[in-house]
Amino acid sequence: MRTISYRLPQERALVTELPGPKSIELAARRRAAVAAGVGSSVPVYAADADGGVVVDVDGNSLIDLGAGIAVTSVGASDPRVAAAVREQVGRFTHTCFMVTPYESYVQVAEELAALTPGDHDKRTALFNSGAEAVENAIKVARLATGRDAVVAFDHAYHGRTNLTMALTAKSVPYKKNFGPFAPEIYRMPMSYPFRDEAGLTGEQAARRAISRIENQIGAESVAAVIVEPIQGEGGFIVPATGFLPTLVAWARSNGVVFIADEVQTGFARTGSWFACEDERIVPDIIAMAKGIAGGLPLSAITGRADLLDKVHVGGLGGTYGGNPVVCAAALAAFATMREFELPARARRIGEIATRRLRALAEEVPAVGDVRGRGAMIAIELVVPGTTEPDAYLTRAVAANALEQGVIVLTCGTYGNVIRLLPPLVIGDDLLEDALTVLDGAIRAAASV
Ligand SMILES: *Cc1c(COP(=O)(O)O)cnc(C)c1O
Repeated sequence: MRTISYRLPQERALVTELPGPKSIELAARRRAAVAAGVGSSVPVYAADADGGVVVDVDGNSLIDLGAGIAVTSVGASDPRVAAAVREQVGRFTHTCFMVTPYESYVQVAEELAALTPGDHDKRTALFNSGAEAVENAIKVARLATGRDAVVAFDHAYHGRTNLTMALTAKSVPYKKNFGPFAPEIYRMPMSYPFRDEAGLTGEQAARRAISRIENQIGAESVAAVIVEPIQGEGGFIVPATGFLPTLVAWARSNGVVFIADEVQTGFARTGSWFACEDERIVPDIIAMAKGIAGGLPLSAITGRADLLDKVHVGGLGGTYGGNPVVCAAALAAFATMREFELPARARRIGEIATRRLRALAEEVPAVGDVRGRGAMIAIELVVPGTTEPDAYLTRAVAANALEQGVIVLTCGTYGNVIRLLPPLVIGDDLLEDALTVLDGAIRAAASV
């Protein structure tokens, strides 16, 4: 594997308490200027970031196990991405692809056709955010099928716009008091091995959902089924083997568009380019964002040409979608992902982390489950001897890890999941150090 060189020292080094004085000052300014509804997971303000570290405004170097929510897989300042962006802004920042098109948009579409699962004829459209990609996938599915109903799952997260709020499962904080929501969205039970009845296979879990779909909606009314192959915000829920292929087969035989929301799982995160590959499923449309462009805001849908090309000219688009700066960043990020073999690195991160976390789970009964794939790893914390979620403990673990200079994120319908999403370019030593801190934080928080 190619060695990666870094601009910033790859170390955990604290020079103040966290948050430090400059972060505290910024927090005060923020309270007076930024809407309270915009939250932050950690109270430190970033000044620099590279590889596996974020350096804050007080000079503390923190280990980053969040990658800005699975975005900076190639690092937050990948030299190739930075150079491509600089080069592009020196020429033109925007023309609008819907006005004067340019090559890089076409190149990104060509790359996505090659990288995404399946060797069928594909088309791509570019947007700005994950939610926007999901919305457009649903638009295409509805237009192409002439049907209205969309099936989503328990624990799903698809975004914060009106349609994607309707698709998202969890009320607080995403939906509460933000309605009314878009109609014709139906929620079905997910496969959640840790919480399903013991022995329920993936195929049985899919049949459970399918029989409800057929009863409550009728297959002939369903435009699309949308699912995250591994659920992200809902708790890094890995469905039982067979769940996804059974759903895909049902969708195919009923003329239902199968949409994989790979906004969080995509671009090498799970050890493959896309998580769909792990069960050899080929979605009709795949929604992508987060890891796609080295931190710049780009999203995409790539799908069957016969579906996407049904949409009339002008039916898809947006002022900024596939902006030239962002396309340059994406093409550079793809090159870095290939050069440094990021799918293989994600698998290696997964091996290192799960080995240590499984050992911890043997000793700490509050660790109910360790799961995930590649560099998308979850620790579900429970009241010992039960499956009762322990959100309080989860917050305590994240706070304790942060105090020691490790950024970890939480997630889950019940708020009781610690999730690891390190940049895929993180070095082994730094990762090991972060895992040692996390191990200590879990033991300390669980013993009180
Ligand atoms: C983050 C996320 C989204 C929404 O993406 P935004 O860019 O925040 O709009 C949609 N789906 C999944 C699976 C996500 O993880």
